[in-house]
Amino acid sequence: MRVVTMLAKVDEEKCIGCKICQKVCPPLAIEVVNKVSRVDAEKCRGCGNCNQRCPENAVTMVKRETPIRVYVDPATVSREKIEELCEKARMNPEQIVCYCTATRAEEVAAAIIKGADTPEKISLETGVRTGCKVECIQPVLRLLEAAGIEPERPEGYQWYGRTPTIWEIPEEVKQKYSQRGFYFDEDIKLLNEVAKLKAEKEAR
Ligand code: SF4
Ligand code: SF4
Repeated sequence: MRVVTMLAKVDEEKCIGCKICQKVCPPLAIEVVNKVSRVDAEKCRGCGNCNQRCPENAVTMVKRETPIRVYVDPATVSREKIEELCEKARMNPEQIVCYCTATRAEEVAAAIIKGADTPEKISLETGVRTGCKVECIQPVLRLLEAAGIEPERPEGYQWYGRTPTIWEIPEEVKQKYSQRGFYFDEDIKLLNEVAKLKAEKEAR
């Protein structure tokens, strides 16, 4: 969930149409037309990425007259489906997946169940990836993968491939790092135990 209070405004006199802003906008709110950047005010989530990356300082962040709230209510979809999806992604539905916006896994799962099939649509609907723009792409990709969705990367450098989770680390890597103070197998055991206890508690 995000309350969007800011809006990106482009100074057309300064814009050179380089498209950097278009490539880094998480909800795809920017389109460069005739070498001028245009921001869709309905879609802008006020993250400031365009403002920070524009080489010409052509983008200013201004306060919205009326803030907009973006949120997908998990109560509007089947709880069973949310739990199934989160379990496949090895996540707790209540865990926070985007700390900047305090968005939980269940909200992202609900957005996916309702049809959001790309990280960009999920950003637009829930606000994730519009804070630091870095950390939450991994849980978003994991939840999409759990739903059987392999999103296509938009043109440019929007996001990166999914990194391995602890359950996927190859045996030789585990062996190598076990002598350097890493405890992968112990961590896996602990995480599995926590998930089992939680499932048992919910079944009661
Ligand atoms: S990054 Fe700046 S100069 Fe480049 S298209 Fe966007 S607003 Fe224009
Ligand atoms: S969402 Fe972020 S990058 Fe996109 S237009 Fe708004 S402030 Fe710029």
